[in-house]
Amino acid sequence: MGFEGSAVARGSDLDRDRLIAEAVARARRSPFYSRHLAGAYVNGRADLAGLPLTFKEHLRDNGPYGMLIVPPHQVGHYRETTATVGEPISTWCGLGDVQRMGTIVHRMVPELSQPTMLVNRFPPSAPFSFALEEALRQARACHIAAGDGPFSRVLDFIKRLKVTALSGLPLEPILLRELARVEGYDMRRDLGSLKVIFCGGAILPPALKRVIEKDWDARVVEIYGSDETLLMGVGCTAGRMHLCHDLLELETVDPQTHEPVDPGEPGVLTVTSLVHEVMPLVRYFTGDLVRLSSQPCACGEPGATAEWLGRYGEALEYGGVRITPHELLDAAYDFADHLETRVFFIVVLKKGLRLLVEVDNPERCRGSAPERNLVNRLKIPVQVEYLRENDVLDRSAMFRGTKIYQPVQIADWRNDDRQPLTIMEALREWPKHDRRAVFQRLKRQVGSRLRRRRFLKEDER
Ligand SMILES: [Zn+2]
Repeated sequence: MGFEGSAVARGSDLDRDRLIAEAVARARRSPFYSRHLAGAYVNGRADLAGLPLTFKEHLRDNGPYGMLIVPPHQVGHYRETTATVGEPISTWCGLGDVQRMGTIVHRMVPELSQPTMLVNRFPPSAPFSFALEEALRQARACHIAAGDGPFSRVLDFIKRLKVTALSGLPLEPILLRELARVEGYDMRRDLGSLKVIFCGGAILPPALKRVIEKDWDARVVEIYGSDETLLMGVGCTAGRMHLCHDLLELETVDPQTHEPVDPGEPGVLTVTSLVHEVMPLVRYFTGDLVRLSSQPCACGEPGATAEWLGRYGEALEYGGVRITPHELLDAAYDFADHLETRVFFIVVLKKGLRLLVEVDNPERCRGSAPERNLVNRLKIPVQVEYLRENDVLDRSAMFRGTKIYQPVQIADWRNDDRQPLTIMEALREWPKHDRRAVFQRLKRQVGSRLRRRRFLKEDER
């Protein structure tokens, strides 16, 4: 499977049609697509719209082998996504897929041409990790896998090893900066070697990107993708995100009717794998709401750019006014930046939003111009509550846990009976200690202490 990446994007429509027809034919070698696409005829892009969509449920119902087109032992990486309900979702990634993802990241990020050391906070089993590790291998740079290590070690690595690049969820650099303040790091002197921060796995609205770049004096590169689709987009030097046309045929469809949306309108990104060699997808409904733009980009990279607006279905509506998580977080980070804080949490209630924000001086912030601007901008009911440091983010929790799992800063209490109020409470897999577990742990500790004392005593006799 030797498709040359950029040659695909520049190729003629005829080449693209051939590529799509071959990709669909290849997908049909899997048990699932041999049934799902039975009787369908595909000779090129124009025929794609006539094919049925593929949904996440199809992946779940056909795991682990139903989507594969090669024997499982020939696949580079296997991963299971732990679903909160039902069977896990199995995803596969070939070594050729890893190589192609790495080539794109390497090409798009000029900083990698300089001597680079990257602290990678993505889980070692995540495709983003493979893509970054491969990009660094191609750049002959140093990769430091730190997906499972404690937060404090990340800061220590950056300071001691003069690390130049960091990768992780967008909340990671925000939390690391808070920890750096608690631990007495000087951002410029101790952590100033950092030049580029790869953010992925959650939405990255412009204001969030801007505050990370300001706080760390580094460039933020958005990387976009998922376990099942692998890499779908990479941020460019002009600050936009380019979708991977070399790897995927892209459509945006209406979330309900599944009809194509007008150019520039938000729609659910639907992708067809062009070159993926082990688990190709045909018209896979990602569930991600994106807005595509065909405006040429200043960086010179061809093809559409996209904004990822959040998951379809996460938009909020009050009194006929709709707002996406992307717009909400953008406004909230803008507001927080005006108050010189980074730590806030949004609770979604039936009658409107509550925004809890940590500030030094609550009295001075109440009813301030930034608050009035926020309320005017959101156009939906919002009440701001000003709290003291650690009330929204318990910094000491970062010493107890090692990483952030599926972080959210917006909790919809209308759908979530856990009703989290702080960033740490909202982490889906943050270790929870119930009373029984604490008691059992204490009992074990006391038991070990007594046994230790007895062993030493017996050894003295
Ligand atoms: Zn660009």
